[in-house]
Order: sequence, then structure tokens, then C-alpha cells
Amino acid sequence: MDYRGYVDLLCSTEDCRSELEEVLRVFVELLDDVKELRLPDLDVDPSRLPLLAGGVRGGLEGVLEIVKDIFRRHELDVGYVSIRDVIEGSLEGERALVSMLFKRALYEVVRGKDLRLQWVNGRCPVCGSLPILAIVRRERGEIFSRDVLYLRCTCGFAESYEHFKCPSCGVRGRDAFEYNIVGEITYRTCSRCGHTIGILRDNPNLDLDLIMLVVMYGLVALAKERL
Ligand SMILES: [Zn+2]
Ligand SMILES: [Zn+2]
Repeated sequence: MDYRGYVDLLCSTEDCRSELEEVLRVFVELLDDVKELRLPDLDVDPSRLPLLAGGVRGGLEGVLEIVKDIFRRHELDVGYVSIRDVIEGSLEGERALVSMLFKRALYEVVRGKDLRLQWVNGRCPVCGSLPILAIVRRERGEIFSRDVLYLRCTCGFAESYEHFKCPSCGVRGRDAFEYNIVGEITYRTCSRCGHTIGILRDNPNLDLDLIMLVVMYGLVALAKERL
């Protein structure tokens, strides 16, 4: 699917389409560079989660520098960004994009290690973020097929999760959420804590990194509408 296909999952206006298409194009260029680079191997301790906040024995600064170099090569000046900034999630604009791609790079480093990680109180075991994207996949059981919900973190970590449970506050039940349908995406907002996730049905042709960006873009647009 080209960018337009992704943009059409969300946008109904031409302004939305052209802006989101540009966001996707820039992001994919940066992400392709991250994927092409040889990232250093990191020594991780899966008993200390999230990995980003304690489970990596050294080497994180090196990965962050590699990611910042990629931004510089694309003539995006991101100034000073520390590991602490990334962990605290206090960055905005292009600096937030550095944080996102750094976490994505960290996941690329740990994904092959067969760590069998699970969500930790609804947070990502790799980077500690709260997921905002869920993909519903039809899976064949022993007798019946069933829908399985996978939460996917911005870093790339994905694992199944309970259908009607908020990863942020843990509240359960179909009625605990408000639903907003925007294009093909169902935004589900927790009535207790306000955390929102965008839910889509799986399509093997979809690139989940692009879907993540589309869902994030829609979240910001939804939040603005509410103000
Ligand atoms: Zn993560
Ligand atoms: Zn909640």
C-alpha cells in the first residue's frame, strides 16, 4: 500500500491527507536509516523491566547518538537529547520523534534475543511506554476461530492483551470505554483514566510502523477537537 492508502484510513479532508502524508514520508526515511544501520548489541537483563529504565547494562548512549546522527544527516537539528529525556517522555516535536526512533532502534536490538517479554501492568517491557495501538487478528483455535487483540508499542513490541481492559489503569468491561470511529480506526477511550487506543483490524499488507503514526496523528486531531 502506498502512503495514500494509509492516509485514507483516517483522513476525510485534503488538509489532513497532505499533512499526514508528509509526516509518513519523513518518518519512513528516518526509520529506513535506523533499520539499515548496524546497531551495537546490548547486554540486557530481562528481570529488570522495562529494559530502557534499568535492564540494559550500558550502551544506550551509543544507540541514541546513532539515531541523532541520522536526524543530522536529514538536516533535522534536534539539539540536546539525553537518555533521561527519553525515559521521562518529556520531549516535543522533532525531539519526540528522536525518542520514538531511539525506542524503535532499542527494540530492533532486543527483538532477536527471544526474551519472551509480556506487558508489565499495561506498559511496554522494552521501553516502558503505554501502548496506543491495538490490532485485532482472527486466529484459529482448536475448534473455533477467535479474535485476538494485540497491543503494539511505538517501539515495535507487540503482544496479546485482554480485549476490554485499559492498559493504563486496568479497568475492565465493554462499558468502561467510549468509542469514536474515525475512518477505519476505532478510538477507544477509558472513561476512568482517559487513556485512548486506536484499534484496527489486521491486514497482512499493513505496515504497523505506518499505522502507528496514522493512529498517533488521529489522536492529536481528536484531542484538539475536544478542546
Ligand atoms: Zn515499547
Ligand atoms: Zn484507564
